[in-house]
Amino acid sequence: MPKPVTHKKSQRPAAKRSSNIEVSLSTTPDRPPQHSDPNPHWEFAHPPQPSLTESSSATPLESGGAEPVERPSKTISYTQVGWGPAPKDSRIGHRFSRISRFSTDFAGNSCKRQQRRDRIDSGVNTLHSTESNQRKSVPSVVIRVPFESFEESLNRGSRDVCKRQPSKAVAPISFSPPTSAPTRVIRGPFAPTNAPPIAPSRQRTLTSSLNAVPPSATPMSHPPEIVNFGANIRFRPKQYYEPRTEDEVLDILRRHARDKIRVVAALHSWSDLLQSDDAVVCLKRFTHIETRVDDEGHTHATVGAGCRIKFLLKELGKQNLTLPAIGLITEQMIAGAIATGTHGSGNHSISHHVEEVRLAAYNHETGEPEIFTISAGDDLRAARCHLGCMGVILSVSFRCVPQYYVGEINAKYQTIEDVLAHEEDSPLQHFFLQPHRWGFTVQHRSLAQPLTDPMYRLDMRLYFIGFFVTFDVGLHLAFKLLVSVLRSRSLTRLFHRHVVPFLLLEDKTYIGRSDQILTWEHELFRHFEIELFVPKEHLPEAAEFITEVLKVCDGATREPSEKVAALLDRIDMRDRLASLHGVFTHHYPICIRRILRDDTLISMATGDDECWYSFSFITLSRPRENFKQMADFLADSTTRLFRARLHWGKYFPLGHDHARTAYPRLDDFTTICRKYDPLGVFQNAFTEEILGLNTAEGHPGS
Ligand SMILES: Cc1cc2nc3c(=O)[nH]c(=O)nc-3n(C[C@H](O)[C@H](O)[C@H](O)COP(=O)(O)OP(=O)(O)OC[C@H]3O[C@@H](n4cnc5c(N)ncnc54)[C@H](O)[C@@H]3O)c2cc1C
Repeated sequence: MPKPVTHKKSQRPAAKRSSNIEVSLSTTPDRPPQHSDPNPHWEFAHPPQPSLTESSSATPLESGGAEPVERPSKTISYTQVGWGPAPKDSRIGHRFSRISRFSTDFAGNSCKRQQRRDRIDSGVNTLHSTESNQRKSVPSVVIRVPFESFEESLNRGSRDVCKRQPSKAVAPISFSPPTSAPTRVIRGPFAPTNAPPIAPSRQRTLTSSLNAVPPSATPMSHPPEIVNFGANIRFRPKQYYEPRTEDEVLDILRRHARDKIRVVAALHSWSDLLQSDDAVVCLKRFTHIETRVDDEGHTHATVGAGCRIKFLLKELGKQNLTLPAIGLITEQMIAGAIATGTHGSGNHSISHHVEEVRLAAYNHETGEPEIFTISAGDDLRAARCHLGCMGVILSVSFRCVPQYYVGEINAKYQTIEDVLAHEEDSPLQHFFLQPHRWGFTVQHRSLAQPLTDPMYRLDMRLYFIGFFVTFDVGLHLAFKLLVSVLRSRSLTRLFHRHVVPFLLLEDKTYIGRSDQILTWEHELFRHFEIELFVPKEHLPEAAEFITEVLKVCDGATREPSEKVAALLDRIDMRDRLASLHGVFTHHYPICIRRILRDDTLISMATGDDECWYSFSFITLSRPRENFKQMADFLADSTTRLFRARLHWGKYFPLGHDHARTAYPRLDDFTTICRKYDPLGVFQNAFTEEILGLNTAEGHPGS
């Protein structure tokens, strides 16, 4: 089974830009036929591209000229899953495991292609074999889109979906209680959200449920103890509220205008962002979802702050829509997820995609609580990754994308260069640095067309069940047994070298809905985690550095390699690493993900770098002190050597110095927080330290 290959970029000069084509243009020659390839090559019959077709209407292509013409084009590569007997060398024999690959251009680069252009239907697509020139129907095709075209492809699809399903796309999914709160639009193209009229049947339910419980603007008489996912944060606030309307939120803000308020969501953060001794507010009752279609046919969703992502995905899925980005799990509430720049791989963070936020905060001049609609400028960039420091987020708006499918194929490589060589072909991939084997396991992922064949659907179901049993449950149980019960370092090493590498099924593409393939049931075991982000330019060096540090911490080596020793000398941390010799045997694969540049003020992927790579270090061991020693060292050293940043929602052992150096726009963020919260009501000790507000000059109100 051949491993995916990367197509070489054209050496030819770019074609002249046509005036009425808006996409960025390049030329790529057709892939020359490779008759020696064991697999057939297929040509994908792609959908018409309206703007490109229109722009080229005067070319010989459309006027019936027989000669292929050189036209400006955007390259897209496809991998197709075809029918046929399983290759002999395949580990898992299966009729779908033949994969071939080719590239073609966005507009259809030749006359022949243009004539063969065909329509895609979800399900069976019509493809043409370039070898036999015979039309064949195959169950589906995996589309590999270079990452810069990813968003474009989704958006194009979004318009298609809206056109196909106009009535569905405009229907609101559920309703929020109406509000009489004063609303102010800061600026931006969108009017403040008007709750749609409540359907009579629905209205009855809401009214009766509102009458059934006491007003939630009064705190609970016995505030519950708040414990986060990792059980490393535990506190009992003085007051705890679960408001149901925006008016109630404003009441709470009025009541605590001179105190401290912290909002909590699904409590899936490990950092001290959540901690509060005073008033805590949870918006778990704000779960409304409204969708609207704009003039260009894009669907936008406005989502209540307390809506869990999994619920949102389910509801959007009913309209064949989904979120533009997701993380590895979907348990978070939407306002909590954006608060810390939650991300997946091969895309921007969820925060980047936020279009509008409704915020309950304080009027800078009057000090009165008020509701603000923020939809543009630096205020929006701040609200996109807000750390809970701007006020109470009431709702968040996104532009949805049409539901998309992702093909996944697993593979192993020894070097990070090999892994990165496949990135163009599988832009959504994430990969794992395997401790004690020190190789890489990759889940190659790219856009795909759904499969409708019942056999394949059954196969997919089995894959999901197998993955759940083997990884989400089995592997975690094994790690837990090794590190918490047996506490055996040597067994942990053996397990990683001789068992883990063989758990993943390789050489076979699995296609599923985006939210099925891109997420895991990763929350079944309560782990503890730190995540470090390094810019692309430092990735290989950082991976080598981390490997050496983990080896020393494990006790496998006493001294790091010469190269890493020299790096440590540069920051005077060699002795500190030596003191960690044998302190912790890391037992969990280190997940590495790529996050595209964010348009925010302080999310981890903000700034000028094209993209960032995150390293997630997870432990299931208790106590966690030894892991923390290793994590502290990694955080300290990588921030100084590789400009690393730390995930705001995960273990965060650094302070203001790090934040100030890592985020050039931190001061702008702080200024905007003060604009909505002049007295620092929404700050806690952690955020005051990070933002530098606990100094005399930085103190709110000074
Ligand atoms: C098992 C697991 C898997 C994870 N996977 C990923 C992943 O793949 N990628 C990733 O980037 N992260 C991941 N995380 C981290 C997680 O996504 C973030 O920490 C996220 O912020 C948690 O969201 P939450 O809803 O639990 O919010 P909380 O943890 O409850 O709150 C987070 C912050 O948001 C603030 N906040 C919440 N709601 C509001 C509101 N309405 N108004 C104002 N402020 C508010 C809180 O004050 C707090 O500062 C994972 C965490 C876990 C436990």
